[in-house]
Amino acid sequence: MPAIDAAPATDAAFLTIDLDAVVENWRRLGAAAGGTAIAAVVKADGYGLGAIPVARALAAAGCRCFFVAHVEEALALRAALAAPEIAVLNGCPDGAAALFAEERLSPVLNDLGRLAAWLGFAAGRADAPPAILHVDTGMNRLGLPPEEVGAARALAGFAACRWRNLMSHLACADEPDHPLNETQRRRFERVRGQLPPLPASLAASSGIFLGRPYWFDEVRPGAALYGIAPQPGQPNPLAQPLRLQAKILQVRRVDRGGSVGYGAAHKLAGSTKIATIAIGYADGYLRAASARGALRVAGVAVPVVGRVSMDLITLDVGALPDAAVAPGALVDVLGPQRTPDDLAHDAGTIGYEILTSLGARYHRRYIGGTA
Ligand SMILES: *Cc1c(COP(=O)(O)O)cnc(C)c1O
Repeated sequence: MPAIDAAPATDAAFLTIDLDAVVENWRRLGAAAGGTAIAAVVKADGYGLGAIPVARALAAAGCRCFFVAHVEEALALRAALAAPEIAVLNGCPDGAAALFAEERLSPVLNDLGRLAAWLGFAAGRADAPPAILHVDTGMNRLGLPPEEVGAARALAGFAACRWRNLMSHLACADEPDHPLNETQRRRFERVRGQLPPLPASLAASSGIFLGRPYWFDEVRPGAALYGIAPQPGQPNPLAQPLRLQAKILQVRRVDRGGSVGYGAAHKLAGSTKIATIAIGYADGYLRAASARGALRVAGVAVPVVGRVSMDLITLDVGALPDAAVAPGALVDVLGPQRTPDDLAHDAGTIGYEILTSLGARYHRRYIGGTA
């Protein structure tokens, strides 16, 4: 991915999103799932990367179905993309069924109440979009409990309803040896057996890597499209679509015995140079990553020292010559060398949270995706 060329007159950091890398990941995940149909999850503004540019690029590459969490997200996506199917994971809010039909949004039906309401609405309407039945096989979060599937099937209009598919969601897919994976798969199979034949979908990003028994008729990854490692502790087979770079704002020499930042938490054992960049916890660089990890200047790792402030991070650049760390020099914050998963590790969280926290103050630039 090229570095930023003509830097605009700003001190804000630059976030470059490579849409070709997202498309490449979508293809790799489809191949990893043996050619099973592959939808794309673009909730939470495409995990922070931008739902609309991401979905446009994926739709151009052939992706035919997108999942979001909220109806508002679905409406914004529909305004940008007329053709693909859009499914709403959190379901059809009370009173929104006509809007779902008008905008061709597929509701994920998660409980008997909303299921009955949808069946009542859809009965005899040719324009009702296909619905998704979500059965909770072990998350205990959202979805119909398996013991209510019989009652669901008995509801008026169930058989006549246009169903898109039957889905469930795995709780522990990132731990391949966790016994709940197999338990959920078995429960899902059992539920399938209680219903008329419907296409089925169980696997998100990590579930794809549990192998063929988990693929069914459609897989629906989110995080892995954006470069998050689907199998923690294993080599990441995916491309990194993200590059975050910041300019050095100021450099100062600090003598032995001096300290850096709030709380004087970082004490210097020897004299060095400290460089400050304009990214802080208000931009999603979590404060929990204070004094952890290293960023890169001209390919050289420079440790993060002191506490992360709201708008600023400080780096020990003593190992680099003055010319390499002058104000305006670019620091690589996130990218292939230090991924969102790496920052998440330093902050005690998961890459998902790093991506969905990406700051609104960054200068965003999209490259690729012009298929
Ligand atoms: C978020 C979500 C996904 C995508 O999960 P990833 O781990 O990001 O691939 C798929 N299905 C459901 C029900 C979800 O909530």
